[in-house]
Amino acid sequence: MAAVSQSEIKEIENVMAGHIATMQATRPDILRAAPASSALACCARPLRGFGGRSLLHYSKPISQNSRIKEFWSHSWHGPRWMVVMTVLLLNNSLAAIVISTLVSFLLGLFCAMDHLPPLEGPIEYDALVSGWCQWGGMVAYVLTLFSWPSRKKIFLDLLCIDQTSEAEKQDALLSMGAFLKQSDSLIVFWDHTYTRRLWCVFELAAYLHSHGGGLIILPTIAGPCFLCVTFSLGIFFILISFVGDQDIQLFRAAVGVIACFCFYLTISTFRRYFHSVTVCQRELKEFQFHRTLCHCCTVGHRSPSGGPMLCDRQILHTCIRKWFGSISEFESQVANAVGESLVSQLGSFLGYRRSVMVLIPLAWGTMDLYFAQYRRRLTDPDRRWIEKHNILSAGILELFRGLALWLGVGPFLLFLAVKMGHVFQKPRSSQILDCLLNMCIVVGIAGILVAILQIEPMYWIAVGSVGIEWMVLEVGSFLFALTMIILSLCGFNCCLPRMVPVADEDTMPGMEHVADFMDDSHDSVIPETLGKVQIGELPGSQAPRASKLTI
Ligand SMILES: [Zn+2]
Repeated sequence: MAAVSQSEIKEIENVMAGHIATMQATRPDILRAAPASSALACCARPLRGFGGRSLLHYSKPISQNSRIKEFWSHSWHGPRWMVVMTVLLLNNSLAAIVISTLVSFLLGLFCAMDHLPPLEGPIEYDALVSGWCQWGGMVAYVLTLFSWPSRKKIFLDLLCIDQTSEAEKQDALLSMGAFLKQSDSLIVFWDHTYTRRLWCVFELAAYLHSHGGGLIILPTIAGPCFLCVTFSLGIFFILISFVGDQDIQLFRAAVGVIACFCFYLTISTFRRYFHSVTVCQRELKEFQFHRTLCHCCTVGHRSPSGGPMLCDRQILHTCIRKWFGSISEFESQVANAVGESLVSQLGSFLGYRRSVMVLIPLAWGTMDLYFAQYRRRLTDPDRRWIEKHNILSAGILELFRGLALWLGVGPFLLFLAVKMGHVFQKPRSSQILDCLLNMCIVVGIAGILVAILQIEPMYWIAVGSVGIEWMVLEVGSFLFALTMIILSLCGFNCCLPRMVPVADEDTMPGMEHVADFMDDSHDSVIPETLGKVQIGELPGSQAPRASKLTI
């Protein structure tokens, strides 16, 4: 191996920076994209870790004219199960909601038409609910969530870069600008390690340089946070169906205990979500390029065999300066443009629409109640009622009451949970205090729920008192639903937590853990260093072919 001087290293670094700055691929067939569903293949193995095997078979080469729908960027240093949950939420939750609701509706209808028997159980399903909608909905939701074959074209490093070949990794890193340029949007799965990783920051820089919009920053806690609401509700309804309501006191106590257990998790994740967002804001505001970490600098630019390594930081520093004029200009764009983008997206991510989506088990429960009444009337040997009424009106009261819960009361309580999660986001000094605080919020919201449910009978009385005799209960429940929907909409649109400016004196959370990921020599997931590759084989570069710098 020929000795390489510092000036030669500098020259090679400049050549590499020059190539990356053009945002061109080193060769056409390096550009690849994979369907979003492949990221979740084999229990989300591509998102959970690498394991040393090439996952390139999941992706296909794309032409330079075709587009990649989303470029997925994440640091590989935060909790990966959270990334998996957030990907599920982002890609599959809408399909899961639509399919599970359809399945729920069809099962309920079959049961109502007497093609399916009411589910047997401790609770008297035939009198109260069909049982099929909740169970069928939940099963269909879980199955679709984990197996929806999303064909959306994405870039994910492990799927689109051959991890078993150093030369391929080098080509892909040099072509990273081209990948980003051909992507319609950049999805940042943010955790507290993101803004410290040099290559993550570089992806952000390349995207900001080549695009005017389409940047989506999602804290990885978003997935657990929102899916937790749906699962808590689903599990809650299924568990209470085992309790039965023969003994009303026991039933109420069981509902209280199960509700506290399920919704404790919801409150806890909401608090973590907002804390994570605040940390994200602070890091973006205080972002400094020189604080990012990369493998080459942590090992002193020496390969295990003792040879010199190129410095990624130097290469990307030069590249970013070419794009933005100066590093401080880039830092200011990260702080402003990206920070604003984060805040505006949080508004849309946490809105009324999202709350209705995550509360979908309430819709399944409503269908259970409605179809049970439908069935009861249809199969009643006494035909007097059915001769006088339209069969569709059989469970209309249950329908309105269910809709009031799903579209009005539920979103309103979720809005309160969001608000409380935001106000009390800061972790307490001990876990016991944190648990107590979560419990207090759960009990407080449960109290509000009980109070709200007392209002509905007042509507019935009010409707009756104004002289309406026709369907007093139905009209009262409809008006109650309407009021709660308006209240929830007002809550989400007018009182949604705004991200307050971050206090400068706050310390950077997570900095105490910097040492934990400073040592990323074990990092087998993404190369994160150009220095590892053989410079003499740099495709398309004018680097001296003889100067094989490294391992
Ligand atoms: Zn370095």
